[in-house]
Amino acid sequence: MKRIIDKLSDSRRILVATHVNPDGDAIGSLLAMGMALESAGKDVVMYNESPIPTPYRFLYGIDQVVHHPEEITQCDTAVVIDCGDLDRVGEAADIIRQISVVINIDHHVTNVGFGDYQLIKPGACASAGIIYEVIKQLGVSLTVPIATALYTGILTDTGSFRFGNTSKNTFSICEALVAAGANPADVASHLYGQYSIGRLKLLNKALDSIEISRNGKLSLMALTQQMLRDTGTVPEDIDGMINYARRIENIDVAVLIREKRNGGSPTGNNRPYHVSLRSNGTVDVAAIAATYGGGGHASAAGFQVETALSEIKSKIWALADTL
Ligand code: 5GP
Ligand code: MN
Repeated sequence: MKRIIDKLSDSRRILVATHVNPDGDAIGSLLAMGMALESAGKDVVMYNESPIPTPYRFLYGIDQVVHHPEEITQCDTAVVIDCGDLDRVGEAADIIRQISVVINIDHHVTNVGFGDYQLIKPGACASAGIIYEVIKQLGVSLTVPIATALYTGILTDTGSFRFGNTSKNTFSICEALVAAGANPADVASHLYGQYSIGRLKLLNKALDSIEISRNGKLSLMALTQQMLRDTGTVPEDIDGMINYARRIENIDVAVLIREKRNGGSPTGNNRPYHVSLRSNGTVDVAAIAATYGGGGHASAAGFQVETALSEIKSKIWALADTL
C-alpha cells in the first residue's frame, strides 16, 4: 500500500480505468479514485470503454469519464481497478501496457497479478472498499461525491448487503461513507427505483427461457440479441436478471448465457456469448470460469465464448451432471 501511495504522489498525470460492461463497483471505484486523485492535485483521465448504464448516470463526475482509447494521452501512471486481468479494460489494454507504471487494484481471487504494483484483496467486499482505504492513505477528505460513488460500489457488489462478501468491515466502511454524506435512500432509489416497460418485457422472456438440469441443481437462462431488439432494450437491462435463476429452490449454480452484439462468424451458428455463473455457496464458479479463460469470485464469475448456443448449452448440461 505504502509504495502505491508514494507512486501516486509522485505521478503527474494518472489514468484510472475499469472493466468493460461496468457494474456499480467498477463505476463507483473509477469515479471515487479519479475524484480523489484530482483533489490531490493530479491531472486525471477516467476511462471506461463501455457506455455508462442509465442507473449510474446520477453519480457526480460521470460526464468526465472518457470512452475512447485516443483520449488516453501522456499518462505516467495507470490505476486499473476491478479487473482480474488487464484485457478486461478492453481495447485500451495495449495503450496501458505502454504506460510506465501500472497499478492493479482488485478483489477478484482470480486476479492474474498484472502490472508493476498490486493491491489485491480477495476478502474485500468490493474494489470500492479497497479504494476507500487508498483514499484514506492519500489523505484526501471524503467529499459527498466520493462517498456516494464508493457507497454505490459496495451496495451493488454485495447485492445490497446480502452476499457472503458482506462483513463487519463492510458496515464500518459504509458507516464512514454515510457520515461523509452518502445517502442510502437516494442511491437505492436511483439504482432500484424504476424499471422501463421494455426491461420488464425482457425479464418476461428471460424467465421464460429458464431450463433446469436433470438433477435439479443448475438453472440456465439464455438471452439473445433478438430478444433485446424485440423489447427495445440494451445489454445493461439484463443486469441482475440472473438472480431470478439463482433463487429457484435447490439450485446450486445459475447460468446466464447472453449473446453479445459484436463479433461472431457471419456464417454458421457461431456467435459471441458472455456466460455468467452464480453459485449459492457450495460450488466455486470462479474455478469453472477459469477453465474457459474467464474468472471472478467463488460465488459470481463469468467467461466469454464464441460458439453455437446449442454447443455451450450442452457443455453446461455436462457440467450440471458433475454437481
Ligand atoms: P458477470 O457475470 O456479472 O459479468 O460477472 C461476474 C463476475 O465475474 C465479476 O466479478 C466479473 O468481473 C467476473 N467476470 C465476468 N466475465 C469475466 C471474464 O470474461 N473474465 C474474467 N477474468 N472475469 C470475468
Ligand atoms: Mn467488483
